[in-house]
Amino acid sequence: MAVESAPLVVELPDGSKREVPRGSTAGDLAAQISRSLAKKAIAARVDGQLTDLFRPIEHDAKVAIVTQDDPEALGVLRHSTAHLMANAVQRLFPGAKVTIGPVTSDGFYYDFDYERPFTPEDLERIEAEMRKLSNEDQKVSREEVPASETQAKARQFEQGGEPYKAEILRDILAANPEAVISIYHQGAWSDLCVGPHVASTGVIKHFKLLNTAGAYWRGNEKNKMLTRIYGTAYFSEADLKAHLTRLEEAAKRDHRKLGRELDLFMFSEAAPAMPFFLPKGAHVYNKLVAFIRELYDRYDYQEVITPLAYSPEMFRTSGHLGNYNENMYRLWTEDECEHAEPGHLHEELQADSFVLKPMNCPSHCLIFGSRRRSYRELPWRVADFARLHRYERGGVVHGLARVRSFSQDDAHIFCTQEQVPGEIEKFIKFLYEVYEVLGFSEILVKLATRPEKRIGSDELWDQAEAALAKGLESGGLPYEILPGEGAFYGPKIEFHLKDAIGRTWQLGTIQYDPNLPERFDLIYIGEDGKEHRPVMLHRAILGSLERFFAVYLEHCAGAFPLWLAPVQAVVIPINEENDPYCREMVDRLRASGLRVELDNRNESLNYRIREAQVKKIPYMLVVGKKEVEQGTVAVRKRTGSQEVMAVDELIKKLVEEVETKALPA
Ligand SMILES: [Zn+2]
Ligand SMILES: [Zn+2]
Repeated sequence: MAVESAPLVVELPDGSKREVPRGSTAGDLAAQISRSLAKKAIAARVDGQLTDLFRPIEHDAKVAIVTQDDPEALGVLRHSTAHLMANAVQRLFPGAKVTIGPVTSDGFYYDFDYERPFTPEDLERIEAEMRKLSNEDQKVSREEVPASETQAKARQFEQGGEPYKAEILRDILAANPEAVISIYHQGAWSDLCVGPHVASTGVIKHFKLLNTAGAYWRGNEKNKMLTRIYGTAYFSEADLKAHLTRLEEAAKRDHRKLGRELDLFMFSEAAPAMPFFLPKGAHVYNKLVAFIRELYDRYDYQEVITPLAYSPEMFRTSGHLGNYNENMYRLWTEDECEHAEPGHLHEELQADSFVLKPMNCPSHCLIFGSRRRSYRELPWRVADFARLHRYERGGVVHGLARVRSFSQDDAHIFCTQEQVPGEIEKFIKFLYEVYEVLGFSEILVKLATRPEKRIGSDELWDQAEAALAKGLESGGLPYEILPGEGAFYGPKIEFHLKDAIGRTWQLGTIQYDPNLPERFDLIYIGEDGKEHRPVMLHRAILGSLERFFAVYLEHCAGAFPLWLAPVQAVVIPINEENDPYCREMVDRLRASGLRVELDNRNESLNYRIREAQVKKIPYMLVVGKKEVEQGTVAVRKRTGSQEVMAVDELIKKLVEEVETKALPA
């Protein structure tokens, strides 16, 4: 008896120890330490496990109080807000069934099964109801269902009109009959959940419901379509406001909106999720490609042009056929159909029909293996802008950011194992040169190491990871390790860029691959006269040019630097009499290689200037009587600043701005 009532000993993060009475919760511990800590406490970490503040500490343990400042606290708050929302929805819309409500990188969502989608007016009502629940400051509690009662609980969910909860519960038990099943309660409302949660609904004060979307139950198109409500929550009103401002800014920069407004690209149902670049967008796209091509010359790459469609044999060799089937487009011909054995058309097409290539790597292996290679030819850097096709499900395609047809600034480096660090270093120089010109200055570097499911010996992995790390170190780059995030065949380095509004995008990558050279049986003759296997490095700087286009368009908000701008300047005569002078000026600018338009429409000067600004044209060249007399031009920038200069001087200035690929001032 005496033993049972003995206090528990907890170790705090600073290593100090404290005694707490048995039955104490982490919340009690926080209160014992200090009132200010108790006030900021959101959850706790008991022996490293995130848990509720209101759960009793059951044995001697290391306990850390998780306060609002801890990055994990926000997740607890947001998931608790998802519960608050589900509670409000079920109060307002009887018959709405709950499913799941996880957190996302900047908020949360909850999926409901209801007779109709929720409207913006519904969201306002739900939000108001959530405020009511928050003001009621209901205590949150956790119930553990005894193992003998879990099946009964599932039936109870079903009879209570919550079939999804019953299904989730049965799935958990099917995977692990011993699983601890917990239910979280607040007031009369409850939800099957592992937690943790905030201690009471009053903690949730600063939240906003954002939008709705359709989502299939369990992400499967064969299941019922549910209504998803997205929202976000923060610990302070200021943080919430800042986030909403960022969202507004992101919406203004949405590349799909800018693409329409600036006439850059379009989509058609005739080729779903495959972009059509319009003349202005194609211009920017081609300039980007030309920029990369220039650097290929300097960094010793050789470009090849390869077929788009292949016999399935090549993808059987590469291992894609079988592992990547659902993402590959297949092609068939009338000929194949005619020769198919009756009743076996599907199987025969699956076995024999051509494949539209989803990546360039196998074609480059074919080229490498097409003749005997000597060590003197290595490293061999082979680049390819071929159009690639990957089938992506309708639910995941998104503007240019995720498409089914795209091309990459793709290249493969075939080299010896010893050459890998040097190649990494050289690649990093190339990559930083590109990012600097494009105006990305904040770059995070990550080294993704061996995953659990992998091929190749640990010794090979040690070698590969060490080679990449060495390359990063001699390149002088600090980096973070992503344990277990490498590809199944080799480690990789990822480059994550921060854009103008603070969002991060993974663009560049270099990947170590001993697997494809093995599968294609690639060899080179070494200095020793013997056959050796090369290493293959997959690398891209911009990645998918389509996705990069989206990222870059949102980064610069459509205000391209002069060298990329589809229209670099528009010449605007104040009235008709200035037309001849303007025409001559347009000719001269064009002769200097500048892309210039004349806007002599019968519209007011202000209207034409405003339109040029909306189109984000870098320079507006305004000409009136005075300018004609003096041989000058009033140069107005996109930003509004204005100066008068001689036409020669203007040409010199613009040409230089293009040649140096200057960033917009
Ligand atoms: Zn929960
Ligand atoms: Zn590749």
